[in-house]
Amino acid sequence: MDKVIKPTSMLGMLGGGQLGKFFVIAAQNLGYQVTVLDPDQKSPAGKVANKHICSSFSDQAALDLMSKECMAISTEFENIPSETIKYLEQKVRTHPNSNAISIVQRRVEEKKYIKELGIPIGSYEPLKSNQFFLEFKDTQIFPAILKQSQFGYDGKGQTHVNSINEVKAIFDNSKEKEFVLEKKLDLDKEISVVLSRSLNGVTKIFPVIENQHKAGILDLSIVPARVSEDFKKEATAYALDIANNLNYVGTIAVEFFISENKLYVNEIAPRPHNSGHFSLDACNVSQFDQQVLALIGRDLEDIRLEKNAVMLNLLGDLWLQNGEIKKPKFEEVEGNDINIHLYGKDSPRIGRKMGHITLVGDDIENLIIKAEEIRSKLWR
Ligand code: ADP
Ligand code: MG
Repeated sequence: MDKVIKPTSMLGMLGGGQLGKFFVIAAQNLGYQVTVLDPDQKSPAGKVANKHICSSFSDQAALDLMSKECMAISTEFENIPSETIKYLEQKVRTHPNSNAISIVQRRVEEKKYIKELGIPIGSYEPLKSNQFFLEFKDTQIFPAILKQSQFGYDGKGQTHVNSINEVKAIFDNSKEKEFVLEKKLDLDKEISVVLSRSLNGVTKIFPVIENQHKAGILDLSIVPARVSEDFKKEATAYALDIANNLNYVGTIAVEFFISENKLYVNEIAPRPHNSGHFSLDACNVSQFDQQVLALIGRDLEDIRLEKNAVMLNLLGDLWLQNGEIKKPKFEEVEGNDINIHLYGKDSPRIGRKMGHITLVGDDIENLIIKAEEIRSKLWR
């Protein structure tokens, strides 16, 4: 069988969010068609895809249709049931693989995996809500963050806790059975590494990214990260190790904490990552282009950062001021080196990612100041 899938073949995308939308656009630019599977009638990726199958990710008829019509399938979010990937990969080229997805989508398994690779990770306890008092030993862990093992994103499913009793109260009120309790680290910085790995196992790594979060949600990304070369090398080596060990094909991101001058892995995202969006405007090739190239079996591009970049996320909060829905005044912030991306989501909600703006230029500190000016104009 020919390893390289030729245009104008149909590719498949599981998930219809903004990451799926950017994949669709990248694939179409290379001459491919894309079918998106997503249960939301109005999903951003579904709207731009050549075909949208509006069904759940476990609908077997929909999966059969995808595997029949698509030459290869990728995903854009980790909460696709791993059985879905397992089912598809028996019929059609599907990446990332089901083993990688099943590890990464459960924090308990993900942390265990990272630890077993000998990669540093912050102190944590895996907890099952029904066995908690038998297992729990480390009272030094507080103040801590209790995270449900599955289905959390953008800080959702996480609570800051200071005592065993607070943990118990959450268990009593939650349907979730499995959690991790993480020691709250004093963060000097957060960084991420986004890389892509081809079918042949060749990797191409984007420059290390510095990330600032607000209330658990990514707010600002700065490229290149303002950390030492040693931290960059160390983070890159860990991310490579993880991607190789997972036998990963596609684009993957690893988030890191720097605390008390030490590097720890926070979590893995088996997909392109919000912090990698700068690549759309600041690199010769984007994280989505590389995801497509990996999937179709071509060599990945060498990556060049052509300008430094600062990316500002646009959350639904911006649309919802004084209790009304209003479109922010983007016309006031237009400019040559200001790239505004809106995802085409109909209903803004607090904390919902609606778009982002990437500023490119030479002087990073200047770009950060400009980003803050844009923020204050838009939020006015
Ligand atoms: P999500 O899957 O929602 O991105 P994360 O585990 O990455 O969840 O947490 C979101 C953010 O919350 C992190 O980027 C960081 O800013 C903060 N955070 C999470 N865990 C810790 C921790 N153990 N110590 C300090 N801050 C944390
Ligand atoms: Mg995270």
